[in-house]
Amino acid sequence: MKRPILIHPDPRLKKVCTPVDDITGELSTLADDMLETMYDAPGIGLAAPQIGVLQRLIVLDCVKEEGAAPQPLVMFNPEIVASSDETNVYEEGCLSIPDQYAEVTRPAEVEVAWIDQQGNPQKQTFDKLWATCVQHEIDHLNGKLFIDYLKPLKRQMITRKMQKLKRERARA
Ligand SMILES: [Zn+2]
Repeated sequence: MKRPILIHPDPRLKKVCTPVDDITGELSTLADDMLETMYDAPGIGLAAPQIGVLQRLIVLDCVKEEGAAPQPLVMFNPEIVASSDETNVYEEGCLSIPDQYAEVTRPAEVEVAWIDQQGNPQKQTFDKLWATCVQHEIDHLNGKLFIDYLKPLKRQMITRKMQKLKRERARA
């Protein structure tokens, strides 16, 4: 089932999310719903707070090539356990900040530990777009958005555009 995505600014996007103790059937369904919502948007990552659930859960799939097999990843309690000194710059966007993009510098490689949908611990190193995406999504679990990396003026400009968008959507 598709879920509505919250648009910035929203207090729920600024909260530190709670760790998940137990992967219940309900949480597993939530993860499936998040994947459906992400693919439909379309996007390459989605964090639970973006649909108003303040728990540490993210989903991602950075396969973008036409016709390539999807590689959905579901991560409960994801944690960056190591980051490279080398950095990478990507133009980032966010499903909670539609149509706004900006370059963000982040570590080029990160090692991430998480619990998968079956409840098994996993650990993997990500690079390129996957590294940026997983860091962007984990930031969401700590109430941080990609625009928080931008200069205040640019951030305020984007926030104002989003406030306007929300007013327009509320009227529609
Ligand atoms: Zn985002």
